[in-house]
Amino acid sequence: MTRRRWIADTWSPQSGHPTHAALTGEQAEHLARVLRAQPGQIFDVVANGFLQRAEVTAVSEKEVAFTLHEELEADAALPIHLLLAVFKFDHFEWAIEKATELGVARITPILARRTEKHLALAAPKRAERWRRIALEAAKQSRRRDVPEIAEPAALATAVGGETATLRILLSETEQALTLAASLGDGAKILRPTHRSATPASNDRSPGTPGAAMDGAPVQLFRSGQETTLALAIGPEGGWTAEEMALFTQHNWTHVTLGPRILRAETAAIAAIAIAGALLPTNN
Ligand code: SAH
Repeated sequence: MTRRRWIADTWSPQSGHPTHAALTGEQAEHLARVLRAQPGQIFDVVANGFLQRAEVTAVSEKEVAFTLHEELEADAALPIHLLLAVFKFDHFEWAIEKATELGVARITPILARRTEKHLALAAPKRAERWRRIALEAAKQSRRRDVPEIAEPAALATAVGGETATLRILLSETEQALTLAASLGDGAKILRPTHRSATPASNDRSPGTPGAAMDGAPVQLFRSGQETTLALAIGPEGGWTAEEMALFTQHNWTHVTLGPRILRAETAAIAAIAIAGALLPTNN
C-alpha cells in the first residue's frame, strides 16, 4: 500500500540522512486540521532528498514534527527532459505544474523563434517563479524529488547540448511516425537485454533500473544527471522550418500526436503521458 507522502519543510541534521523533520505552513495546517494527524501515526517523508518512514511526534497547526526511521526504496522521476518553448505564461505555468505531476525529471524553457518577444524577454525573470510552481506541484503530487527547471535557453544551445539517449521533436507537420511507434523502438533499445522478451507493460516494478544500449545497467535518473528521453514542444506559433532543420541535423526524431493540432500545453501533457506509459523505467 502506498502511504501518504510528504516533502519536509525543515529537517535535521542538515547533511546526510535526517533523523528529524517537520512540515510547516499550509502542509502542517492540512495535516493537523483536515487529516487530523496524531502522534504515533506513520507517514512517508522526503527530507534532504531521502524518502524515509516517519512517525509523527507532535502536532500543531503551525508544525507537525516527525522522527525519521528507515530509508524506503526510491522511486525515480520519469527519465524525461522536457524542452518546452515559452508561450503565454499562464498556460506555460499550467504546463509546468502538469508535467511535474506526471513525473518529468527536468524542464528547460526554450526561447523559440516564434516565442513572442515580450515573453522571451521576461522569461529569465520568471524562472524562480516556475521553480516554486514545480516545488508546489511536487509536494501536491507527493513526488520524491522536485524537477529541475533550467534557465531559459536559446533553441540552438539546448538542441546542440542535449545528451538524452532518445531525442524526440513533437512536430505539428509530421504525418507518419507517431510518438508511440517511435518509443516502441526506443524502448527496446533501453530495456535490459535479459528482459528483452518481456513486454514493456510487465516491466514496471518500482525502481527497476533501465539499461544502456549494450544492456549494461545504467543508474536511474536523478535530477541534474543525464536523461534518457528528451521531448521538445513548440510555441503557439509552432516551429519554423529552420528550427525543424536544426533538430534534424542533431538527430532528433520528428513525431506526431495525431492529425489534430493541439495547444502546446496539451501536446506536452499527452506526450509525457504516452512516454511515461511506454518507457521501461516508468513506475
Ligand atoms: N500554430 C501551429 C501549431 C502549434 S502547436 C499550427 O497551427 O500549425 C504548438 C506545439 O505543440 C507544436 O510546435 C508541437 O510541438 C506540438 N503539437 C501540437 N499538435 C501536435 C501534433 N498533432 N503532433 C505533434 N505535435 C503537436
